[in-house]
Amino acid sequence: MNLHGTMRINQAGHLEIGGCDTVELARQFGTPLYVMDEALLRENCRAYVESFQKHYPNAEVIYASKVFSTMAMCRLVAEEGMGLDVVSGGELYTALASGFPANRIYFHGNNKSPEELEMALEARVGRYVVDNFSELDLLNELARQRKTKAKILIRVSPGIDAHTHHYIKTGMIDSKFGLAIANGQALMGAEKALGMKNLEFKGIHCHIGSQIFDLNSYKEAAATMMAFVKEIKTKTGYACEELNLGGGLGIYYTEGDSPQPIGELVALMTKTVREAATANNLPLPKIIVEPGRSIVGEAGVTLYTVGSVKDIPGIRKYVAVDGGMTDNPRPALYQAKYEAALANKMNVPGEETVSIAGKCCESGDMLIWDIELPPTVPGDILVVTSTGAYNYSMASNYNRNRRPAVVFACGGKAELVVRRESYEDLIRNDLVPERMQNKVACLA
Ligand SMILES: *Cc1c(COP(=O)(O)O)cnc(C)c1O
Repeated sequence: MNLHGTMRINQAGHLEIGGCDTVELARQFGTPLYVMDEALLRENCRAYVESFQKHYPNAEVIYASKVFSTMAMCRLVAEEGMGLDVVSGGELYTALASGFPANRIYFHGNNKSPEELEMALEARVGRYVVDNFSELDLLNELARQRKTKAKILIRVSPGIDAHTHHYIKTGMIDSKFGLAIANGQALMGAEKALGMKNLEFKGIHCHIGSQIFDLNSYKEAAATMMAFVKEIKTKTGYACEELNLGGGLGIYYTEGDSPQPIGELVALMTKTVREAATANNLPLPKIIVEPGRSIVGEAGVTLYTVGSVKDIPGIRKYVAVDGGMTDNPRPALYQAKYEAALANKMNVPGEETVSIAGKCCESGDMLIWDIELPPTVPGDILVVTSTGAYNYSMASNYNRNRRPAVVFACGGKAELVVRRESYEDLIRNDLVPERMQNKVACLA
């Protein structure tokens, strides 16, 4: 396991994060528990913001809130001077409830409902990233009814292969996201938007994938997008004011992952845009990026308590924990790999190869296959690292497991930012029809 951010091993041989003993945190808040290293969250935000200040001040960094959407995180992002992207009414509601300035919110998504768009128009969010022709018509009509103009970017698919896992590769032509440049639909979208009375077309957006290690993908994307800015200018006379190049920077999960520094991504991206603008005699657009994983991924860990340990002689040793695919569906969804350690035995050398099983009724509910751990017994605290992104936000109540609590750890203090769900929470929306209470059967 790689120690990063504020992680330390303390005198008791326990893992410490943000000055807090994680074994203590497990005792205090219960497990499974998500622990976020607040200092590292802020450091990652600042790496983006400060790199842009240095290389290209006409820029905005917006946090992709789907990765980890909570009110405390929205507050932190606002404090760091960033914008926010939301992809649903629920994420928008969370951001607004946290007091996030609406004009710094970007509304994404390939199928925003009329209700969601109404909600965004009511709140006056800053930008709509329009995905397709139906949405252009719908948003234009809803804005007309409100006698307003919605500021939009159009999501385009630049056809860049981001060399990543198939399910998280989104920039190709055959994609549910955006209008492709290659088949002319993106240009048609821009032309259509420019002609719509209640839309103000500001520019274009792309997001080429996620968990990207090869910065050349970004260079290609930036160059392709600038060529498209040029094409729009030539065909319509309009020079895009805004260029949103998406998120996707990769992080460290396990050995072999080679994340690239945020500063280098920003330097390369801005240099590419500048050169293309000069070469094509275009004004410099405002650049927007929307990182998610690279802000929160490595800042989060999950703590579990080890329960049953089952040795199948000559085959495998299963170490089961009190969570699993309900708090981290990524291994089951796309074979995502993670590292782990025993938070209460950090100085004990690894001695046996075990596999970490969740507690759900699915054979596929395995968190980690074949990992070296010290001798592991029930009651040990297992820490899985790099769980800050797409874990809490993808958590479910399968098997009616309660979703875990989340704490922010900083300066020796851990503060609850999401309470653990209660059993009452689980049945909060359940109803029993009256006739069942009166023991009257449904008559077929
Ligand atoms: C998911 C997403 C992001 C963030 O991607 P990361 O890989 O988490 O950085 C940014 N923009 C859009 C449109 C997305 O869908």
